[in-house]
This record gives sequence, structure tokens and C-alpha cells, in this order.
Amino acid sequence: MPFSTLSKIKDRLDAGATTAVAVAKTYLDRIAAFNGDLNAFVDIDPAHVLEQAEASDAYRTKHGARALEGLPIAIKDIFCTQDGPTRCCSHILKDFHAPYDAHVITKLKEAGAVLVGKTNMDEFAMGSSTETSAFGPCHNPWDIERIPGGSSGGSASAVAAALVPAALGTDTGGSIRQPASVCGITGLKPTYGRVSRRGIIAFASSLDQAGPMTRTVKDAAMIAAAMSGHDSMDSTSVPDAPAVDWLGACDKTGMKGLRIGKPKEYFVDGMDTGVRAAIDAALAECEALGAEIVDISLPHTDAAVAAYYVIAPSEASANLSRYDAVRFGHRCDNPDDLLDMYTRSRDEGFGKEVKRRILTGTFALSSGYYDAYYIKAQQVRTLIRQDFINAFAQVDVIATPTSPITAFKLGEKTADPLTMYLSDIFTIALNLAGLPGLSQPCGFVDGLPVGLQWIAPAWREDVILGAASAYEAATDWVKAPINFGGEA
Ligand code: GLN
Repeated sequence: MPFSTLSKIKDRLDAGATTAVAVAKTYLDRIAAFNGDLNAFVDIDPAHVLEQAEASDAYRTKHGARALEGLPIAIKDIFCTQDGPTRCCSHILKDFHAPYDAHVITKLKEAGAVLVGKTNMDEFAMGSSTETSAFGPCHNPWDIERIPGGSSGGSASAVAAALVPAALGTDTGGSIRQPASVCGITGLKPTYGRVSRRGIIAFASSLDQAGPMTRTVKDAAMIAAAMSGHDSMDSTSVPDAPAVDWLGACDKTGMKGLRIGKPKEYFVDGMDTGVRAAIDAALAECEALGAEIVDISLPHTDAAVAAYYVIAPSEASANLSRYDAVRFGHRCDNPDDLLDMYTRSRDEGFGKEVKRRILTGTFALSSGYYDAYYIKAQQVRTLIRQDFINAFAQVDVIATPTSPITAFKLGEKTADPLTMYLSDIFTIALNLAGLPGLSQPCGFVDGLPVGLQWIAPAWREDVILGAASAYEAATDWVKAPINFGGEA
């Protein structure tokens, strides 16, 4: 059972074959047994999980089941929850308790989900390896000496190891899709504006978007259906977003006649040859299922990482100014004066990578450099967006590798931020363009998972879900047994 999909657990609950309490206990036992090896959870309150499960069983008896009734879902430490701490894996928020639930948390609760703990992440979601967490690094269950990706590494690791059947992540430049890829699970980043950002601790507000991390495409669709929807208290949540039939879109015939774009800029020298072979084989499988592969070009791809590392830090430097030891955040002991309090509190509270981003962003926004860096990066962003618009005149969907490499060793890239930034080379462009993307497992290199990324036009998550469901049904990758934590 622990390696079951969310949909199978739902079927068993709906059939009365199990209870929310029994399901919760199964996963709590696994968390107790294996979290020590993985450090995937940074906070867990078993008694509170069981209380929610009991309440869900009682609700089901009285009123019937809601969409996610009794299903356990872990939450990245970036989502504000009234219960327990919300720390964004930073020392600066070590004593923070959110006064309200994030909009998506409210929605999951209203759908009957049982929320399970807080998962590890890079501090303030800045990273690709979950090594910048103030609570220590998280490990990849496929090889615990390797990174689980980041920044939503705790969520990915927990789902891959079946410590929980599903989790929430956030994605600013790839933080749902890249950890999903290197942990061999499915991760969906919805169109920007589909999911409310209220109550999600802000990193880069024009890029941040929350989404599900699950075993299968259908499981991701189930959670996305519950999470999405307009929120009048988030001005970037779109009021009249085109609706998606989330579960209907998971129809496994989604590949027939589909025009899949293969961008030449995503198949470059220097990527891992095993990853390339896995993606080529996946595309051949799609062709066999009735899709047409069309060679396309996204000519400004090579500028995406540079533009992102100006825009995201600029927005971060503004967002993180709120941690001033007055309104939010850690306050140093015995400050000499106000300035000493600001500087020392921030110095003690933030880790190295977060400081690097704040400094980069502050520099890019400073008068004299604003035009050269920030404005230029925004112009590049428009070109990148236009590349996708041009491509989608020719094709329905785009398929690429999610990451050029598989999970690397812990510590391998921490000394060199630039090589770390390059792990996001295939995920960043679609955040800049606001588009939806999904990563799903499509093979292994030396026992480590490889992810296939799907990109669709804005609001067309249905096209992604159709293609990914068809691919998943035709292959066995989601069922590949993991050599961690017992029988599948
Ligand atoms: N790895 C990227 C960064 O460090 C993306 C992170 C994210 O999507 N939150 O900025």
C-alpha cells in the first residue's frame, strides 16, 4: 500500500476498504522509520495528522466524500499553515507561526485532504539541491548520497520514498519539475495565475507558482483541480482563467495526432548522453502512439538562465526586505542601535545563497544599473515569451528533458553557484513565459531517474495531461521499484 497512487487510495477509501486513520497511520509509520535517512520532513505532528484523519472519517460517514477525502498530502515549508511552524527552511523564520492558511491550504482542507507535516526545501526556495536548507540537506531515496533536486526536494524525496503519496511544491524556475525529475516522480507547474500565491512565502512574485508532486499524472490532476481557482485577495490570480477538465484531460488517447515540438536548443552537446538517449526513446514512443514530432527552434533559450538570475534575485531582494526583525524575522541579541539591529539580524538569519541573491538583486535594481540589467532582462523575457508563441503556431505541445543531468552527489556543486544555476537550464524559460509544465519519469541512467518535460500554451494544462497520461499508460516507468524502504 505505501507505494499506491493517490487515486488507488481514494478508490479503497471510497469502497470502504480502508479508513483515513488507517492510511494516515501507514504513512506516519514510514515517516518515523525512514525520515532519519532522508531528512524529507522538517516538521511533523503525528497527533495532529491523526486528528485530521479522524475528522475526515467522521465527515465521510455523515456527509459523504469530498474530492480529496482522507488523502494524505505533505506540504512544502513555504506554504503558510496556521497549524505548526512555517519557516521556509530559514533561520530567520525559525520562530514564525503563520496567522492564516495559504489559499491553497484552505482549498485542500475544504476538499477533505489530511495535511501531513512540512517538507524540507532550499532556504526561501533558492536552490536546485535542497542543500541550502537551514535544517540540513535532504537526500534522494534512489541513492541517499545524492541530492533530491530542489528547491522542493523534501516533497520529491517524500513522495519517491512513499513517506506520503503526494505533496505540494512551488516552482519559480523549476523547483517542482527538477526535483520530480531526479526523484522519478511527476510534478506539475500550472500556468502563472491559475493558483493563488496568497500565503505562499514570496521568492520572485512574477514567477512563483504552486503545484502538485505525485506518483502519476492523474494524481497530479486530482490535486491541481482542488488547488486552482481565482482568489480575490491575490491580484495575480486570474479571475476568468479558462477552465480545465482536469480528470477528463487524463484520457489516455491524448497522443493521437498530437504535434509535439522538439526544440533544437534543448538537445545540445554537453548534456548527459544517457539522459539524451532516454528522451529520444520517449519521443520515439510518443511517435509510435500516434504523435508527430516536429523540429522547432526556441532561439533565445540560451539567454534564459541569465535573464532569470537578474529578474528572480531582483524580485527576491524586494520581497525579502520585510525580514527586518521588526515586522518579521529573527532579532539579534542586544543591538547597539537600529542599524545594528537590521544588519546583524539579517546577517545571522539568512544563509549564504539567500544573501547572494539579495546582493545580486539589489545591485541589478540600483540606479545606474537598472537599465543595463533589470530592464534588459525584462526585454529578454519578452523575446523568450515570443519564442514560445511562435512555436505554438506550429505545434500543440513541446517535449524536452527536464534536466540535462541526473541527481548529482551531495556537495558536488555547492562551491560553484554557476554550475548549480545551470541545472535549471531547461526549466526556467517557461516560468519566464508564465507557461504550464510537467515532468514525468521516462527512464534511468545508472539507476537514477530521468524526467521528460512537457510544455503547453498558457491555460492548456489539458494538452499536457493528455500527452503525459498516454505516455505513462504506454510505459512502466512510474511502477519502477525503488531500492529503498521495503516492498513496493
Ligand atoms: N533553482 C532555481 C533557483 O535557485 C529555481 C528555484 C525555484 O524554482 N524555486 O532560483
